[in-house]
Amino acid sequence: MSQVKTAWQTALINAVTQPDELLRLLDLGPSWLDGARHAATLFPLKVPHGFIRRMQKGNIHDPLLRQVLPIGAELLEIPGFTTDPLQETDNAIPGLLHKYQGRVLLTLTGTCAIHCRFCFRRHFPYSKNNPGTEGWKAALNYIANDPTITEVILSGGDPLSLSDAILDRFIQSLSAISHVKRLRFHSRLPIVLPERITPDLIQLLTKSRLSIVFVVHCNHPQEIDASVKSAMQNLSATNITLLNQSVLLKGINDHADILTELSESLFDMGVLPYYLHVLDKVQGTAHFDTPLDTAHLLHAQIAARLPGYLVPRLVREDPGAPAKTLLR
Ligand SMILES: *Cc1c(COP(=O)(O)O)cnc(C)c1O
Ligand code: SF4
Repeated sequence: MSQVKTAWQTALINAVTQPDELLRLLDLGPSWLDGARHAATLFPLKVPHGFIRRMQKGNIHDPLLRQVLPIGAELLEIPGFTTDPLQETDNAIPGLLHKYQGRVLLTLTGTCAIHCRFCFRRHFPYSKNNPGTEGWKAALNYIANDPTITEVILSGGDPLSLSDAILDRFIQSLSAISHVKRLRFHSRLPIVLPERITPDLIQLLTKSRLSIVFVVHCNHPQEIDASVKSAMQNLSATNITLLNQSVLLKGINDHADILTELSESLFDMGVLPYYLHVLDKVQGTAHFDTPLDTAHLLHAQIAARLPGYLVPRLVREDPGAPAKTLLR
C-alpha cells in the first residue's frame, strides 16, 4: 500500500547522505572528502537540509557541521573507547531496557533524522535489538506485568521518526496499562526536523490520558532558528513538559558563553535544561572528549551566571548504577 508522504517524511527521505554533497552545499573544498568517505563507512552520514541551512558556509569548524561530518579521526582506536561502553546490547526483551526504578526505556525504531558522530548508537546492533511494530507485544507484556513501572521512555533511534499512525497505535496500547502514568520522548527531531511537530502530532499526543514529556536534544544555540522556535512554542502551548539534554562536546559547546546562551535560548521557547552529559566513551568519538576537570569548571562557570533552573545537571551514565551519576 503506498501512502502519501507528509512534508516531514519527505524532508527525512531527502536528508543528505553523501559527503561530497554536504561539502558542496557548504562551499567546502574536497580536502575533507577522503576522511569523510572512510568514516562514513563506519556510520553513514545523514543530515536534513533544514539543519544544513543553519550552518555557516565555508566554515569547516561550524559547530553544527562538526556534529555530523564524518572525519578520519573516527577511525582511530583509542584505549578506553569501546563499541558498547554502556553494555546495553544484551536485552532479554529486544528494544527494552529496564535499568532504573519505575522507568523502562524502549527503542521502537532504529531510524534517526540525523546521525550524530558522537552517538553511542553508531555501534548499536538495531537489527538484533529492534522489536518492530510486530514485536511490541513482548515489551507491552513486560510493562503490564510490572506494576512498579510508571513511566515509559521512547528513545533513539528517534521515536518521532515513526508515523503518526504507528505512534497512535502504540500510545493507545500503552494507555491501556493502568499503572503507566507518563510517556517520555527522547527526540532530536523537534530540533533537527521541526516540521515533524504538526498539529496532528500535537493532537494525538495531547488527547492521551498519559502525561507527556519531551526531552529534546540540542547542543548549541545555533541549532535554534525560527522554525525550531515556532515548533517548540507550539508544543509549549500544550500541557507537554519540555526539557533538553545536551552532550558536552570538545570544539562544539565546551565554552561557558555557548552553554549560557543555549540555556537562555531554550528557556525563551519554553524548554528547561535537564541534563548535560559528558561523552560516553564510544569508539570513534575520542576527539569530542572533554577532560572531567574541564567539565566541572565549565559547569561551575555557568552555575555562577544562570538562575538555578537554567543550569542542567552534569551527568554521566555508568553501567550498573541505579541512576545517572551526578557529577556536579
Ligand atoms: C537515561 C535513562 C533513563 C532515564 O533516566 P532519567 O534520570 O529519569 O532521565 C531511563 N532508562 C535508561 C536505560 C536510561 O539510560
Ligand atoms: S540517537 Fe540521538 S544522538 Fe544518536 S544519532 Fe540518533 S539523534 Fe543523534
